[in-house]
Amino acid sequence: MSKKYNIAVIKGDGIGPEIVDEAMKVLDAVAVTEDINFNYKEYLLGGAAIDETGVPLPDETISGVKASDAVLFGAIGGPKWDTLPRDKRPETGLLGLRKAMGTYANLRPAMVYDELVNASSLKPEVIKGVDLMVVRELTGGIYFGEPRANEGDRAYNTMVYSVEEIRRIAKVAFDIAMKRDKRVCSVDKANVLDVSQLWRDTVEEVAKDYPEVELSHMYVDNAAMQLVRDPKQFDVILTGNIFGDILSDEASMLSGSIGLLPSASIGDKVGLYEPIHGSAPDIAGQGIANPLATISSASMMLRYALGESDAADRIDNAVKKVLAKGYRTQDLSEFDATEVCSTGEIGSIIADYASKK
Ligand code: NAD
Repeated sequence: MSKKYNIAVIKGDGIGPEIVDEAMKVLDAVAVTEDINFNYKEYLLGGAAIDETGVPLPDETISGVKASDAVLFGAIGGPKWDTLPRDKRPETGLLGLRKAMGTYANLRPAMVYDELVNASSLKPEVIKGVDLMVVRELTGGIYFGEPRANEGDRAYNTMVYSVEEIRRIAKVAFDIAMKRDKRVCSVDKANVLDVSQLWRDTVEEVAKDYPEVELSHMYVDNAAMQLVRDPKQFDVILTGNIFGDILSDEASMLSGSIGLLPSASIGDKVGLYEPIHGSAPDIAGQGIANPLATISSASMMLRYALGESDAADRIDNAVKKVLAKGYRTQDLSEFDATEVCSTGEIGSIIADYASKK
């Protein structure tokens, strides 16, 4: 009997609808071969929601998303809504959605495809074969800690983590490592910060439940350096909110193209799967957006939310094959392209490869 999943789809603004359509095309292709039934339901967020309902995050979107098995998301925002007050802007809608979903872990893979090693600003020999995952704590740490204040002549924030917060994010990292190369590098600043010492001690405790996973620790300043010196040494990087914010952006640039990288925000319940880039209003509607990051986000959704690793492998392999054959969207056309494709064309080629036995 075929497996059924309820997928909440949020296309959003700008190139959002174009790239999400291609991800759905690819999902439909693997649905046939893997005997899966996707029940999609679309919800509004961001500018599209403002235009239709007057608010960036309608209640219907929150309830629909919470009732789904996973959320596939494009991107929101654009100049049309930039002059609105902050609480009415598209970005406020996305932050509100993440909060409502309780997603405390941000997963950002950074992989370098062999065919695109020249797209990176680093030397090919440094980045060839990079395949790492940054697991960033998303709802705690210094961005949320109390007390916080700006008193005019001085200002402060508080970096605070509870054992429970550290434990749950560490578990996410170890679970992911079990599906990868079984190595976790926990990044902190335990030589200076008490909160980092607690982080380190707690991660050590969690590691005892994962005897197959090799755990190492690294100070964040060293990690920032090692990421550009020898990124291949990493499998899963586990870190807190502010360190992860910085390191995941650094890691994403290893691949050299913003149009390639997926991400996931997950918690105890429903996860949000989305490309790392924004809504690219400058190229919206032209059929030239690169849908690969969104297609890879759909693959992450299959692997991490639905446990459909065979279907996810199919998509990942199809993306690799398409790049190896030299099919490129315009943003990557200068890197060994044999054919420059539109958004829809490259989506169809990936769907075709993904559906082959
Ligand atoms: P952006 O990521 O949208 O675009 C940066 C540059 O990269 C642009 O030149 C764009 O054309 C290009 N680009 C991005 N994605 C691409 C793709 N898939 N294929 C080809 N080229 C691509 O960032 P920005 O310009 O800073 O922001 C534009 C809008 O997106 C803003 O309104 C911003 O608030 C919003 N935004 C949304 C999200 C989100 O929804 N998660 C994230 C970041 C920015």
